[in-house]
Amino acid sequence: MGRREAILAEMGLAPVWRLKKRPSVEEKAAPPSMAAANAWIELKQLVSGCVKCGLHQTRTQTVFGVGDPGAQWMLIGEAPGAEEDRLGDPFVGQAGRLLDNMLAAIGLDRRKNVYIANVLKCRPPGNRNPEPEEVAKCSPHLLRQIELVNPKLIVAMGRFAAQTLLETDASIASLRGRLHRYAGRPCIVTYHPAYLLRNLPDKAKAWADLVFARKTMGSL
Ligand code: URA
Repeated sequence: MGRREAILAEMGLAPVWRLKKRPSVEEKAAPPSMAAANAWIELKQLVSGCVKCGLHQTRTQTVFGVGDPGAQWMLIGEAPGAEEDRLGDPFVGQAGRLLDNMLAAIGLDRRKNVYIANVLKCRPPGNRNPEPEEVAKCSPHLLRQIELVNPKLIVAMGRFAAQTLLETDASIASLRGRLHRYAGRPCIVTYHPAYLLRNLPDKAKAWADLVFARKTMGSL
């Protein structure tokens, strides 16, 4: 025993002061927030480099998603339009402004407590409807986003999102006002904001859907 250890032993401190072997970088488990951040980075890279369907040839960029990655609310639209393709964020055009106003009316804000994504991450040229093959290729990206956000409630906006997520060809009218499930989560259907811009009287129904969604969220 060396002199220092002898003194520490005399003071009853020796076992306490013995240096422990530090865990190596590999041995240290990443804190959950770090693991989640890495998972998001990985998914974003995967999406931005995706060439699984033909839409990569015509896109300006992929449109990943926007909002609070830990939100309890997740809203899902159809596919990026021209503005979204140019700017890289979902719902940035006129429909997006309407969406933001409707969300604000129930206390939601894309910068704080909601996450917004689309079924497709690339713009279909000329804003045509997404093809089944494009949806099939892109769905794993959306499912992973849902897994990472882990929302309590999903709101499907518009006929295309609703029919795709719920694997049905039923009309929006028949799907509204009921609680469905998608990816293991409660899912509510409402009109697409772009549709509402063309059909103003249906705004009241969309408002009723959001009130239903807020009430549902309160009970989850
Ligand atoms: N319509 C959508 O469905 N998504 C967008 O991001 C923009 C318009």
